[in-house]
Amino acid sequence: MKELLERKKGLHRRILIVDDEFIEREMLGEMLSGLYEIIYAENGAVALNITKTQRENISLIILDLHMPELDGVSLLKIIRTDSELRRIPVIVLTSEKGSEVECLQMGAADFITKPYDAPEVVRARVARSIELAEDSVIIHETERDILTGLFNKEFFFEYGKRLNKQNNIPMDALVIDINHFHIVNELYGRAYGNIILQRLGNNIHDLVRRTGGLACRSENDSFYIYIPHDDELEKKLPQFIEKISEVFSEHKISIRIGIYSDDGNDLDIERHFDYAKRASQSIRNKYTTSFNFYDSEFHKKELFAERLINEMDKALTDKQFKVFYQPKYNITGDVPKLVSAEALIRWDHPEYGMISPGLFIPLFEHNGLIHKLDMYVWNEAAGQIRKWREMFGLTLPVSVNVSRVDVFDPTLLDQLDSIVSKNSVSSEDLMLEITETAYTDDSDKFNEIIFGLRNKGFKIEMDDFGSGYSSLNVVTSLDIDVLKLDMQFIKNICSDTKNSKLVSIMIDIARLLEVPVVAEGVETREQMLLLKEIGCDIVQGYYFSKPLPVDEFEALIKKEIQGE
Ligand code: C2E
Ligand code: MG
Ligand code: MG
Repeated sequence: MKELLERKKGLHRRILIVDDEFIEREMLGEMLSGLYEIIYAENGAVALNITKTQRENISLIILDLHMPELDGVSLLKIIRTDSELRRIPVIVLTSEKGSEVECLQMGAADFITKPYDAPEVVRARVARSIELAEDSVIIHETERDILTGLFNKEFFFEYGKRLNKQNNIPMDALVIDINHFHIVNELYGRAYGNIILQRLGNNIHDLVRRTGGLACRSENDSFYIYIPHDDELEKKLPQFIEKISEVFSEHKISIRIGIYSDDGNDLDIERHFDYAKRASQSIRNKYTTSFNFYDSEFHKKELFAERLINEMDKALTDKQFKVFYQPKYNITGDVPKLVSAEALIRWDHPEYGMISPGLFIPLFEHNGLIHKLDMYVWNEAAGQIRKWREMFGLTLPVSVNVSRVDVFDPTLLDQLDSIVSKNSVSSEDLMLEITETAYTDDSDKFNEIIFGLRNKGFKIEMDDFGSGYSSLNVVTSLDIDVLKLDMQFIKNICSDTKNSKLVSIMIDIARLLEVPVVAEGVETREQMLLLKEIGCDIVQGYYFSKPLPVDEFEALIKKEIQGE
């Protein structure tokens, strides 16, 4: 581009004159020589060779049609269909009056008739052809993304709006994102990443050429496609995704697509793509889903989420959040024994009723609100341990959940410390459940944090063990105090021997680490007995009790004390 502008500023442009007649070449060259640098070719084959090797430096080709070897018509065809040569304008030399239209139809920029017109006319035609071609390159380059040749975002929206005005037909907005593209760059280098993006761009280009429509690269690894609405789109998407993913060949790279189909409302095109983008973002970490429609259901969920986020602060002040307690029983002896509890939060919403944490915790983890809520729960739980000690004369340790977001908060240790001392409880009685998937985020930093917590006396339970991807290597090198098996394994433990074997193996791992195992999600006596048989120490689940509000949990403690 810079080079192009410099050339426009008056530096010499190079013109290739192709004619088998020496005299004709020289005459034409003479007319143009003070203004341009002239090079010559005596037939089409030589000209093609020069054009290919010097394509960046040739501003114009003046071409005679009748020549031996490769004739002018064939050469013109080659140039017009070659994507790298196409931008070079060609002026055709013709002695046949009336063949002008034919030349222009073949893609010539202009024509000059033999014998030549006055030199000023020839020069004017040459200058105009070069200028037009250079302007169109500039326009092309400002509209396009250099890497893929697709539109850039600005022009994409501009042309999209025009398309809407002209056609006024329903359109589908698709956003294509590549999952974890930064890893591709890191593993294989940026140059390879660029090749992937180019290939993906080509496939997308093919698609919009077939269906009609527009496409752009909106940012690094995100593409927008705007195509006429297709009722069958959902059915066609898996095939489309498969086709597009071919560009990733042997690599385990995948894409995800968010879609917003025009439903006749008056929203502008940018909004359509906002929605499609959000639909794509919502499946970011879902490895089993590759596309997602932004429909009314999605919209409702978004509004609900927004409302919960907005109301969280007030709900905390109004005490709408309730901490429930679910008992954990030691099953190693003859009679199961209540040994501790897990604190689980619920939102008693004035309008929606009891909302489960599965709905709001992920939202709050996303925007940092979780920390406030967790602090509330930890405080409540610590206060509860003390109250029960005073009421019943016994210490029942309570586990609280520590979100993965909290783990990396540098003030975590101080805050937990002040919570236990304020409530006069021992740090080992407020046990900390940290989900397994948090362990893989940044293992060095993580281990350091865990070390600090344990040093202060806190006990660490690895929650949902088996749901993440920690390797045996990671697990065996960790400092933890309790291993808590993921519920999924317990679900089919009685019907599926593979599952019971897996649980057995995990219990062996726990033995190796010399830590007790908690199985959660135990719903039947059969499950409980099987777990006891294979050596599980502690059980939590509906079989014994659901999570209970404080007064009901207290009744349970009383029963336990009376039974002793
Ligand atoms: P989790 O820590 O793995 O908690 C266990 C979940 O299993 C709880 O769901 C509990 O009610 C449920 N459960 C217990 N026994 C059974 C059973 O026998 N069958 C079945 N089907 N489910 C059982 P809940 O209370 O809905 O909590 C869901 C998740 O939300 C928790 O999973 C935890 O990750 C998170 N969570 C709950 N409270 C808090 C909190 O205060 N802070 C944070 N950061 N996360 C929390
Ligand atoms: Mg838990
Ligand atoms: Mg769990």
